[in-house]
Amino acid sequence: MVEILRPDLCVLGAGAGGIAAACAAAATGASVVLVEKRRLEDGRPNPGLLSNVVIEAARATALGRRRSRASAGPNPLDSASSKSTVDIAALRRRAQKLADRLALDTPIRLAALNIKTIEGTARFTGRKSCAAGGVTIEPKWFVVAAGGVSEPATEIKGFELIRPLELESFLDLEHWPRRLLLLGGSAHGMALAQAFCRLGSQVQLIESGTFLPGEDRELVSPILTRLQREGVGLHENATVVRIKPLNSGMRIDFAKMGCDLDFEATHMMLTTPLSPRVEGLGLDEAGVDYDRNGIKVRGDLRTSNPSIYAIGDVLGGLSSLGNARAQGRRVVAQIFEARRTIRPQVARFAFTDPEFAAVGMSETEARNSHRNIRVLRARFHENAAAQLAGDANGHVKIITDARDRLLGVGIVGPQARELIGAYGLALSQRLRISDLRDFVPPTPSLAEAGSLAALALPGQLGKALWRRMFPVTRRFN
Ligand SMILES: Cc1cc2nc3c(=O)[nH]c(=O)nc-3n(C[C@H](O)[C@H](O)[C@H](O)COP(=O)(O)OP(=O)(O)OC[C@H]3O[C@@H](n4cnc5c(N)ncnc54)[C@H](O)[C@@H]3O)c2cc1C
Repeated sequence: MVEILRPDLCVLGAGAGGIAAACAAAATGASVVLVEKRRLEDGRPNPGLLSNVVIEAARATALGRRRSRASAGPNPLDSASSKSTVDIAALRRRAQKLADRLALDTPIRLAALNIKTIEGTARFTGRKSCAAGGVTIEPKWFVVAAGGVSEPATEIKGFELIRPLELESFLDLEHWPRRLLLLGGSAHGMALAQAFCRLGSQVQLIESGTFLPGEDRELVSPILTRLQREGVGLHENATVVRIKPLNSGMRIDFAKMGCDLDFEATHMMLTTPLSPRVEGLGLDEAGVDYDRNGIKVRGDLRTSNPSIYAIGDVLGGLSSLGNARAQGRRVVAQIFEARRTIRPQVARFAFTDPEFAAVGMSETEARNSHRNIRVLRARFHENAAAQLAGDANGHVKIITDARDRLLGVGIVGPQARELIGAYGLALSQRLRISDLRDFVPPTPSLAEAGSLAALALPGQLGKALWRRMFPVTRRFN
């Protein structure tokens, strides 16, 4: 006889979003079943952790080079030509150590939180039931958190003849890739391209659209310039036409702005954004609307079936751990605490060097939605902490409406991912730029860069001068 479980909540997928939803629900006293198709105990580092380990190792290598060059005279890091020997086994060990330390999904920990885990592939069998691991689950509510999947580039001729490096296992290599082609200029594609290059690979990064689409070009350009200076071949609006296997790797033919180009690579890796995993879940049986861009949800993350919510990468759009976790906590607050939650401000980022981070609107979005906006900028060049650290590239860009209410902030430069936090809070609290004046950061500190713009207020500079420095830009259409 098939066992039937009837918990309050069943979560499909124990990734970032699923675990956050399950833990938040269990904390309210709800009974929770969490289904995961991976072996929860395998403890293997996930692709995000693997790539961050490589990115941090490359950052340390670059910093070491920069410091040794600085001691020999002013010679900034400009090329990754000085080859490094990469100890892949050490990187692997480091990733495993971190995975062990950061493991949130061990069945023992989940059981201690009163979450029942089932290992198996979940599939809806009806509008209110799903089957997994030989068990039928009929909860009051479902949360689908099945994540994304890397799609093979089947449209490329010859793709089926090669084996691309996989994000899950690229540290299983014996030798570091000599010549690498990364296909897909997503934020993590750009960060990985720079990291591989800094660790000695020759790298070409091909993107069919533009890098970091939707973000202000003035914040993206310093990153592209740095990547190119360090030796990464960048190709926007380029299409891979054909891949031909060779004895020593492969030849990749691609077209860019009407020109035919090719590159001989020893390895290739897909860094295109993951596609939402909508196949194999039985969404039709459950009456959940979806297409290849993801599961369709309303503003409150409810699907077309009122007892099923969906969160994270399975929705398509912004792919981030923070986003998936925030959505997981949001649906639980709605279901179990009958709390209408505010949509949180989620940071967008690229862990390149210089780093990029942004919250709220880009300048283009602000111009499209507001008649008048104001744009404030502060350069790290004028920031003592950045100069002391020898890393003063980039700037903070703050966008406000005509009444000085914050609309968006973008940062390109040192520690952008840390600095963006204060602005995210300010945005979520609907603060004005003048409110930022009420906090005086330590001196010297990178935080002063943003304060510099915020401090330039009418009361302090004189209205006329301030208006001249930071004019309101009007939309004339
Ligand atoms: C290379 C790489 C680097 C990244 N780096 C970062 C980073 O540095 N910072 C950051 O914020 N984000 C990063 N991301 C993005 C981040 O990993 C995702 O946005 C996040 O994991 C999405 O969470 P999720 O819960 O939606 O899906 P996931 O975390 O992918 O979890 C989905 C889970 O569902 C399971 N599942 C799927 N189908 C079923 C089924 N039918 N039954 C049972 N279980 C199922 C899967 O096995 C998986 O465990 C990176 C992504 C990649 C690919």
